[in-house]
Amino acid sequence: MPMFTASTLRWLQLCQRRLWRDLHLDQTPQQSQPTRLIAVIRSADQREIQRAFTMPTWAHGVELTRQLMQQQVEAILGACVEATLTVEGTTEPIRFGGRIDRLVRQPDGLYAAIEMKRDPVLREGDALQLDFYTWLLCLMQGIDWLPAIFWLGADDDGFPISVIDHAYDQFRFQQQLADILQLLFEPQPPAHLISACKECHWRSNCYPDAARVKHVSLLSKLNRQTLDDLRLAGIQHLDQIVAMQPDDLRQFRGIKTKAHAIHASARAWVEERAVWYGQLRDTCRVDDAYFFDIETLQNEWGGTEVWSIGWSDSRGAVGVILVAPEYPAGDLELADGQRVTLVDDAPSAWRVFARFVGAGDQPIFAWTGYDAGVMRKSAPAEVVEQLNPRVDDLCALFDRAVKLPVKGVSLKVVARYFGFNWHGYDDWFAAYSDYLRWRRSGDRGLLASACAYQSDDVEAMRVVRRWLLENEPN
Ligand code: SF4
Repeated sequence: MPMFTASTLRWLQLCQRRLWRDLHLDQTPQQSQPTRLIAVIRSADQREIQRAFTMPTWAHGVELTRQLMQQQVEAILGACVEATLTVEGTTEPIRFGGRIDRLVRQPDGLYAAIEMKRDPVLREGDALQLDFYTWLLCLMQGIDWLPAIFWLGADDDGFPISVIDHAYDQFRFQQQLADILQLLFEPQPPAHLISACKECHWRSNCYPDAARVKHVSLLSKLNRQTLDDLRLAGIQHLDQIVAMQPDDLRQFRGIKTKAHAIHASARAWVEERAVWYGQLRDTCRVDDAYFFDIETLQNEWGGTEVWSIGWSDSRGAVGVILVAPEYPAGDLELADGQRVTLVDDAPSAWRVFARFVGAGDQPIFAWTGYDAGVMRKSAPAEVVEQLNPRVDDLCALFDRAVKLPVKGVSLKVVARYFGFNWHGYDDWFAAYSDYLRWRRSGDRGLLASACAYQSDDVEAMRVVRRWLLENEPN
């Protein structure tokens, strides 16, 4: 049976479809395994003792919370609470559940919720979340009202920076809940893609649904206000955009200078092909060019440092430079022929890279401006002086010339459209963890996996540029 949770409720502000799917289909995050619950118990000498319990399942957490409430412990951190109700008009009862940061016993023996927020200010949806927990606790304990508190921010000792009383109003919340539950009786809302889709567990269903109906939210770089304006003007599908002239699109807020790009993007989706709408810059046509891609981490001073630089020339020679102070600096060749250069630190990685690409004037492409930005901030001055005039953003060059029927312009999305596949994983974090494990173990298999990811990234850029050169209209 699906469960209505606080996170379901928070999504209401963003996407009604998410709420509808969570309520109708059995895939709520709350049903994944809670990890730990802590009971605060008062000892015989009046000291507070914390006792941790590991919970294998959500149901186990609910039962444990119930037992601890019966035992009248002082507080429960990470309490799992749940109630089942039959809502008028529904055939099946609905489960309502929530994981409460801090459940605190009141002088009258009842338990009330404290919601802890890392941010020092309340955000949209926070009040609704605490209303929901309080409503659930009232239901479980057979009462109409309970106090409820926010703890905002935390000082160095873990104490809240501010404590805010929350005014729970049973009538107001029940009215809101009734309005929300009306969604149960309506058809599923269509998929309107938003930036929050990236964090939503339904995205693998919603992207194809939006693509099937060619919904306007497939267009990248349209903000919510523009999408609202388009909706108010009755424009919901990309063929309606295609039927307009680019200049007509400028009447909508947020489009203005992007009108041609948006029109081309709509055409790409409708015609299901790449659409050229701009010129390639001459730098993109230079035969002899380099490609590079960096991987970074935060250093202890909060700065960004490279741990890996992958590079390639336009003939396909690929190298990877890795920071690995535990190993002697120098060149290695992996079993698959991959060339790897080990260096002691990030500045050395930049110097080696500058040596590989030489002192000529060939362009050096990266995907987006991130890599060049990190270089300017963190590479040695002589490297910045040598490379900065040559680095260029291939993603921007591509995006100003061509639109594809894909969502976004990440290298993973664009290169895949042209048939390129990453040999192993396509996830920087997997490469980073293999790199760290190799540094500890010396296992060449792990090193090969991390390097394969890095060299695939630069190979993917070469594939995109080759496509541009081979397909540019005369
Ligand atoms: S993926 Fe996006 S559209 Fe689909 S339910 Fe989630 S937030 Fe809504």
